[in-house]
Amino acid sequence: MNHALDETHDPKRVSWVASAQGHGEFPLQNLPLGIFSRDGDAPRGGIAIGDSIFDLKAALAAGLFSGEAAQAAAAASGATLNPLMALGAAARRALRRRVFALLDANGAELSGVEALAKTLLHDAAGCSVHVPARIGAFTDFFAGIHHATNAGLRRNANPPLTSNYKYVPVAYHSRASSVRASGFPVRRPHGQRELTANQPEFGPCLKMDFELELGAWIGPGNALGEPVPIVRAGEQMIGLCLLNDWSARDIQRWESAPLGPFLAKNFCTTVSPWIVTAEALAPFRIAQPARPDGDPRPLPYLWDDADQNDGAFDIELEAWLSTGAFREKKLPPQRIALSNTKHLYWTVAQMVAHHTSSGCNLEAGDLFGSGTISAPDASGYGSFAELSFDGKQPITLASGETRAFLEDGDELILRAHARRDGCIAIGFGECRGRIGA
Ligand code: MN
Repeated sequence: MNHALDETHDPKRVSWVASAQGHGEFPLQNLPLGIFSRDGDAPRGGIAIGDSIFDLKAALAAGLFSGEAAQAAAAASGATLNPLMALGAAARRALRRRVFALLDANGAELSGVEALAKTLLHDAAGCSVHVPARIGAFTDFFAGIHHATNAGLRRNANPPLTSNYKYVPVAYHSRASSVRASGFPVRRPHGQRELTANQPEFGPCLKMDFELELGAWIGPGNALGEPVPIVRAGEQMIGLCLLNDWSARDIQRWESAPLGPFLAKNFCTTVSPWIVTAEALAPFRIAQPARPDGDPRPLPYLWDDADQNDGAFDIELEAWLSTGAFREKKLPPQRIALSNTKHLYWTVAQMVAHHTSSGCNLEAGDLFGSGTISAPDASGYGSFAELSFDGKQPITLASGETRAFLEDGDELILRAHARRDGCIAIGFGECRGRIGA
């Protein structure tokens, strides 16, 4: 694996795109990949820089790329990033280095590139952003150990974690067709829920919830029947996004015996539209936190020293809530959870190695959800099931309202930032969704 830092991580470098200087999400050192369109024109690949989007197709047409970077830019010129995701890491890195050089305030071709600014850059506020890939498969893991523990405690399970949890990166196959980009309105689902003991009724979900998760975009993938060994598994992570796994808790509780989530999770999943690449995240890698004393060591097919040394990430995660009353009173959204990716019990490489250990084939554009990433205490619970203890202890909001679960008009916003001394902080942008009937 190649997590080495290079000139694209140099904290002294700034972009000639003025809004990128000191930008909390998309400074020159981030360069996340996405799909955008403007004025209803054809969706195509772009890179977020400050308050703008760098148009890869336009830059390719202007002759600014050659070699591997040109191959990557061409693969990113269509309506999805699947072709770029299928190329692998070398092409993606070449594209990053070239776009960095083009946007660098001290770049060798500065005057020529700046003269093309109107062609190359679009105001992000005037663009639409889209799900960046045609998702063949979406797998949702359960790797947030505090969330998994809290789920067991609500079931009065003793011990709260199932006996497989510390051996198996638990997951289920979720629904790819209903993944949407930030901003898409979320309809409250109808379904069966238990009214009285063993007596169901059909109606609108009464326990509408969010889940604060990380998404991992996968590529280039592996052939059916050929597992990805753990030592190579990390290379399959193209980058990360935010993921809100909207969950209908009352429907989930009734339907999940014995096969797990189905309609409670398949009505919509929201992702942040920008893929923060493995390269941009290199400075924010950390060792996988040591397992508590007494926990088993992962089985050999999930153990790699290098992955243990730097396969985890230090990324701050936040969930913010706004309601109709907040907007009426002009109150800013309220943060209801502050957590961190270090609360994941498994690395992305372990998820890839486990997912493919059966021979299952991953494809470019597949999406993993991490599972809800809760902190150990209530300040960082990543779902209402945890924040309100399944509705029994509603939380009080700045508006004076209380919430046990999400109500119509509520808007949930996920945010993420990676920070480290000596590095330029980067952000993920927003993962936003408003609940409607
Ligand atoms: Mn989930």
